[in-house]
Amino acid sequence: MRVGCPKEIKNHEYRVGLTPASVREYVAHGHDVLIETNAGSGIGASDADYVAAGAKIAATAAEVFASCDMIVKVKEPQPSEWVQLREGQILYTYLHLAPDPEQTKGLLASGVTAVAYETVTDDRGGLPLLAPMSEVAGRLSIQAGAFSLQKANGGRGVLLGGVPGVNPAKVVVIGGGVVGIHAARMAVGLGADVTILDRSLPRLRQLDDIFSGRVHTLFSSIDALENEVFSADLVVGAVLIPGAAAPKLVTRKMLSGMKKGAVIVDVAIDQGGCFETSHATTHSDPTYEVDGVIHYCVANMPGAVPVTSAHALNNATIFHGLALADKGIAAILADRHLMNGLNVHKGKITNKAVAEALGYEM
Ligand code: NAD
Repeated sequence: MRVGCPKEIKNHEYRVGLTPASVREYVAHGHDVLIETNAGSGIGASDADYVAAGAKIAATAAEVFASCDMIVKVKEPQPSEWVQLREGQILYTYLHLAPDPEQTKGLLASGVTAVAYETVTDDRGGLPLLAPMSEVAGRLSIQAGAFSLQKANGGRGVLLGGVPGVNPAKVVVIGGGVVGIHAARMAVGLGADVTILDRSLPRLRQLDDIFSGRVHTLFSSIDALENEVFSADLVVGAVLIPGAAAPKLVTRKMLSGMKKGAVIVDVAIDQGGCFETSHATTHSDPTYEVDGVIHYCVANMPGAVPVTSAHALNNATIFHGLALADKGIAAILADRHLMNGLNVHKGKITNKAVAEALGYEM
């Protein structure tokens, strides 16, 4: 198969769908790989590195889209990209269609077969292609929150870990999945007072075990959420209902009860966000304020650390990517986890949660 990787064009997105190490794997499986010139510049991989790995270099993205059977990317295709996709071509990337009807229409019109990283599953009920980016975003959420809490950045002026004789900051993490656990790990490491809320009791038990009492765990009822959010310095939004838009757990009304200068980092913003007042921001202008509360809602957080993120992402995508390149659509039919990743095929939505979220028939 001819496998292509265009340079990412979303605002401040420096990751790349294929690293030189991944190219070597595809080439070893007998595939031709075409990389757009400078696609790896954000992670320090030059065209020469790709050529050394066995790829050919394309002068433009148009050449990659026009001549490849499979396109490997990082972020959802932008309008100028989705018009270049076509029936019979496989798109393998993050899509996050539930909150994005425009992109959905574009993909349906193209006829492309689109496998979304974020809905591919594994035997343990996890989302293995979302997990590495969730690990990065979870860890980064605490760095972003700590920075935003500084007075000059609009925050309360609180140091997460406090100092001897002064209390640490209170960090509340809503959702104890992959993002939540990595956020908690960083916050605990910095000495903050950390509470994790989740709806899953088995998950809360597991968290209690992992952190050996070093974090508080709470069942995520409206009452508990309100109490915790009111007393927090930093709230991290990390809930997920796979394929669906994030539930708006913190309402506008609740926000008015929060401390002035408190910070919200809504990591779930790529699924619409779990705070009613959230809207997506970018790395160049990451925060805004509502009711005295600083909101950080960057939809592609891992893009800030592209070297770490691109390698972590490639480690997770290579297995199914090679299967798709080796067998085409047959790889999807043969593997229920890859089938769960199939969101769009020949003008139809093929994932139940995505179809329901967008009001489409399946
Ligand atoms: P996950 O499935 O591992 O964890 C989600 C957790 O939310 C689960 O433990 C689930 O029980 C919990 N949950 C569901 N409903 C809840 C509720 N009402 N209250 C409390 N908890 C609830 O998911 P994840 O990998 O941690 O991802 C979390 C979110 O972060 C997703 O929306 C994901 O797309 C997003 N994400 C964003 C970025 C970014 O750059 N902004 C990067 C990576 C992931």
